[in-house]
Amino acid sequence: MKKKFFTTLVLFASLALTACGGASTNAEWKSNATKHWHENGDKKVDEAAHVFEEEKDKAVAPTCSAEGKKFEKCKVCGYEKESKVSKLAHTYGDWTNKDGAYCGPSEREHECTVCHEKASETLPIVQHTWVETGTVAEGDGGHAYSLVKCSVCQKEGLMVSVIDSEVEFTSSDTSKQKLKAAPEGCVKLPSNGDNFTVKIKLAEAKTGKLFMRGSMDYWYTDSNKNEQKGIYNGQSGGAASKDSGIANFKLEVGAGDNLSQVALTGNKDLLYKDFLPAEPGFTNVANTDWSQIGDIEVGDVSLAAGLNTIKFTRVDSYNIAIHDFVVTFANAA
Ligand SMILES: [Zn+2]
Ligand SMILES: [Zn+2]
Ligand SMILES: [Zn+2]
Repeated sequence: MKKKFFTTLVLFASLALTACGGASTNAEWKSNATKHWHENGDKKVDEAAHVFEEEKDKAVAPTCSAEGKKFEKCKVCGYEKESKVSKLAHTYGDWTNKDGAYCGPSEREHECTVCHEKASETLPIVQHTWVETGTVAEGDGGHAYSLVKCSVCQKEGLMVSVIDSEVEFTSSDTSKQKLKAAPEGCVKLPSNGDNFTVKIKLAEAKTGKLFMRGSMDYWYTDSNKNEQKGIYNGQSGGAASKDSGIANFKLEVGAGDNLSQVALTGNKDLLYKDFLPAEPGFTNVANTDWSQIGDIEVGDVSLAAGLNTIKFTRVDSYNIAIHDFVVTFANAA
């Protein structure tokens, strides 16, 4: 009884629509990306969202080198949808250092064990960990120095402290000379033009790389504290900058007193934060604080058998304090 009544009602409604608009409902489903409907003249009837069902037998599984595909079909109207499935993550193996070096800023890479894609990254500066393996006593005009070896990468070299160097102050303001040993164990030159020399005596000639090890104090180039001052950045007079290639210091090395300037090959833009321990909160360090001691790679040097001089001159800088120099030997085992 109920069913009959319903059928009659639908028939009546259909007849009523036909009578009013002169159109009839088309049995064919129309659809867009999200919905399906029947057309009745210029009206949409039975409009509803698709009811998707995945067609799993058609699916293409993603890999780490290619996207996958997913196929879906509307249970009601048969509308088919194809979508991309994101690539899987690579399965990387162990990191290997590209240049074989451990310390210093170096590039390393790893390879996906599935598709063999390689990815690389440049590591932040890693300082050598110097361990003293011997000492050379002061004598014949040379300062005492240490023979050192890095406990991480096994690099060998020598380290000479500059605290007992021969400092020549060019400034007449003797009050500034009190800054000589700030922080402890370092020489800070208070005025441009100030310089010091250290002398090292070698039994045999060595070639290697010269590192300046020191500290920076906390200075910004602007009041908004956006740009930190750097080792090579020229901060007054504009003469020295990483762009001009002029450093804010000059280092000369040579046999006896026959000095020549070391060509700079190292990091051209070391900032104060590069010298800080890797821990949060360094932006709250006071203006007068000093960073930890860090290595600045300066360039290649040749040291002669006999007495050699290393001369450091402040060119255009406020903020470098030198603790020691290290020469890593190229011809060491
Ligand atoms: Zn549908
Ligand atoms: Zn892969
Ligand atoms: Zn090392």
